[in-house]
Amino acid sequence: MRKRILLFSLLITFLGIFVFSLISTSVYYKSSVEHSKEYLRVYMNAFGEQYALDNGGAAEFSERLNGARVTFMDTRGNVTGDSDADGTLENHADREEFILAVANGDGFAVRNSETVGKDMIYYCKYFAGEDCYIRIGIPTSSEWALFAQSLPSVAGYLIVDVLMCLLFTFLSTYFILDPVKKIANEASANMTVNTKYAELEPIAYILNERNRSIRLQLKEINEEKELAVRARASKDEFITNVTHEMNTPLTSIKGYAELLSVGGLNEEQKQTAYKTILSQSERLTNLISCMINYSEIDNDDLPSYEVDLSALARETLAALKPEADKRNITLIDDIRDNVKIFSRHERMSEILGNLIRNAIRYNKEGGSVTVSLDFTRLSVEDTGIGIAEENIDKIFSRFFTVDKSHGGKNGGFGLGLAVVRKICRRAGWKIYVQSEPDKGSKFTVEF
Ligand code: ADP
Repeated sequence: MRKRILLFSLLITFLGIFVFSLISTSVYYKSSVEHSKEYLRVYMNAFGEQYALDNGGAAEFSERLNGARVTFMDTRGNVTGDSDADGTLENHADREEFILAVANGDGFAVRNSETVGKDMIYYCKYFAGEDCYIRIGIPTSSEWALFAQSLPSVAGYLIVDVLMCLLFTFLSTYFILDPVKKIANEASANMTVNTKYAELEPIAYILNERNRSIRLQLKEINEEKELAVRARASKDEFITNVTHEMNTPLTSIKGYAELLSVGGLNEEQKQTAYKTILSQSERLTNLISCMINYSEIDNDDLPSYEVDLSALARETLAALKPEADKRNITLIDDIRDNVKIFSRHERMSEILGNLIRNAIRYNKEGGSVTVSLDFTRLSVEDTGIGIAEENIDKIFSRFFTVDKSHGGKNGGFGLGLAVVRKICRRAGWKIYVQSEPDKGSKFTVEF
């Protein structure tokens, strides 16, 4: 960049100096010609009758004019006398100044004289008294000669110019590159880039935006990493839990089957063995269908549609009434009519079924379950055993049950609330529980 600025400034200033010296030479040349013309007019006025119109008279007059060249010509341009010629000169009728003088009475011309070998300015005038033309010439410089004369001083200017350009380049690159360097350093250090120069603001803006998007991408990558780690841990935990849940009924079935195969059991013992094998098989079947259900919800990409939640909630209450009646539990309907929700029938059925069934299951004899529904939320409140504070956060986890002994009896493997939470999360709903041990719990879904 520095080199470019230097070359560019040198080129511009060289051109500037060259053009300026050309113009000033031309101006100077014009004014010096005007000046010479003035001189020549004054010289011409000094002519008098005392000068003979031959070489001698011309030399005499020339002497009076500080050595200016004097030429006398007759009306046909024949030279009758010349201060600088040794012999006779050729006819001057074709000279520009003579032609002008014939036409206008007087005339000027500038050219190189072969006789004297110099650039000359001539003034020629007709004198009626003597009936002759007198020409006076003084040396002058042509425009190019003047320009050539000025070249040494131009060269001097050029040297100064190169030095000035070097200084300018150094200063300008310093002032331009320094703020750019500062921006680059800030950007590479992931800092917010600031600049007081309006010209650099677009660059600062782009760098800030780019840094921001990199930070965002890094954050996303880290989050994804964390999720992957958590997913792996949760998968391991899930497998451990499933194995554990399956192991208990399988051990029991195997034990009783072995006893039966050995024989020697009385009728009562046999009946106990059959019943245990049957109930433990049911427990296994239950566990498998719970797991299938859970994984189906995980992979549920089926389209949603409008579900009449009011009707579905009432149906669920009716379906679970016999179970509630067995324990003398009252089901209270606080359901608003015509609440519609964009979901699927089976998903909403899972939520209602799990929440109401739990409210009955973890209730006390003679208690109550209130199902409230409006357009913004669904809540299921019971007057049951409640949940200890330390378990509130855990109950939505897979395979979590407060009382391990009940596992499997009613399909309670600790998967019900996990399913409910999964459906809510996928729909973007919020689910939470408020509970007090021994008083009851209230589960709320905010749509
Ligand atoms: P489960 O099949 O064991 O009921 P859930 O996931 O539905 O599995 O519930 C997990 C645990 O949360 C239950 O084992 C129970 O301890 C507790 N729980 C759920 N609902 C209630 C409730 N309404 N009252 C008290 N405890 C509850």
